[in-house]
Amino acid sequence: MKYAFIGLIALGFISCNSAQNSVKSKNKMTRVEYANTITAGELKTNLYQFADDKMQGRMTGTPGQKMAANFLKEFYVTNGISSAYGNDDYFQEIPASYFSGQTGDNGSENVVAFIKGSEKPNEVIVLSAHYDHVGMKNGEIYNGADDDGSGTVSMLEIAQAFQTAVKNGQGPKRSILFLHVTGEEIGLYGSKYYTENPIFPLENTVCNLNTDMVGRIDPDKAGNKNYIYLIGSDKLSQELHDVSEEANNKYTQLELDYTFNDDNDPNRFYYRSDHYNFAKNNIPVIFYFNGVHADYHKPTDTPDKIEYELMAKRAKLIFHTAWEVANREGRITADKL
Ligand SMILES: [Zn+2]
Repeated sequence: MKYAFIGLIALGFISCNSAQNSVKSKNKMTRVEYANTITAGELKTNLYQFADDKMQGRMTGTPGQKMAANFLKEFYVTNGISSAYGNDDYFQEIPASYFSGQTGDNGSENVVAFIKGSEKPNEVIVLSAHYDHVGMKNGEIYNGADDDGSGTVSMLEIAQAFQTAVKNGQGPKRSILFLHVTGEEIGLYGSKYYTENPIFPLENTVCNLNTDMVGRIDPDKAGNKNYIYLIGSDKLSQELHDVSEEANNKYTQLELDYTFNDDNDPNRFYYRSDHYNFAKNNIPVIFYFNGVHADYHKPTDTPDKIEYELMAKRAKLIFHTAWEVANREGRITADKL
């Protein structure tokens, strides 16, 4: 009896296990199918909420910024994506004293979500975007839909696509940290704080893909609905640059414009967003950017002006680049140091 019984249990276990596996194997999807879960519609839905007046322009340390932090946390909780601390704490707290008095007595927080790698969990890819903006001035709300609502909601869609892969048993081999930083507008504080107080050792950080303003078209490229500026991709790692180029050639065929990647570029954009704090630590970076436009740092930077189809395509490039870096055999190296 006992043996027969154990046999039955085993059978049951195998059957439910194989049932689960058959569900997983039945749901196997291609990376293109995962990328296609990133849609203009979902980006628009999230951006209209994230850049809504109720967020009061998301100035670091203000109630509006806190509301935005909770919006991001809720998204990750809803999608079953854990915090970087492995519990329900999604906030890396930063004391008020760290902001050199720019936030008064108010501290702030980075929002940190995490997908653990299936084979090389100690190797971590950091995707980043700042979620703060410049708040309110003269009674006007600066919604910051492009700056950097676009990068923020793009990261949410990318995280969701990777989480769908995880659910199907096709999660990334290396780990991915989704780092929503605060304090960018007042001096790149959130990314500086993270690189000084990393949750995962910097030596285990494979690269940083930073997204800041990817929802609009630069007036200098008026009418061009198929480009993105890349900055920094070949500064520390030729390998990362090549992976990025290859991902684009294979999957997104965007025009990759390196105008602002020039060391002598007067705009110095390479030094003006959060990837720079990673680059300073010799971590290979790519900065995704659409250029400035008439609504830059104006109350008129609103969700109705965003190019959602183009933004979705740009997010897919970042997804495919992250997918390749996360799953390729060899770890990307800073081979230009
Ligand atoms: Zn920005």
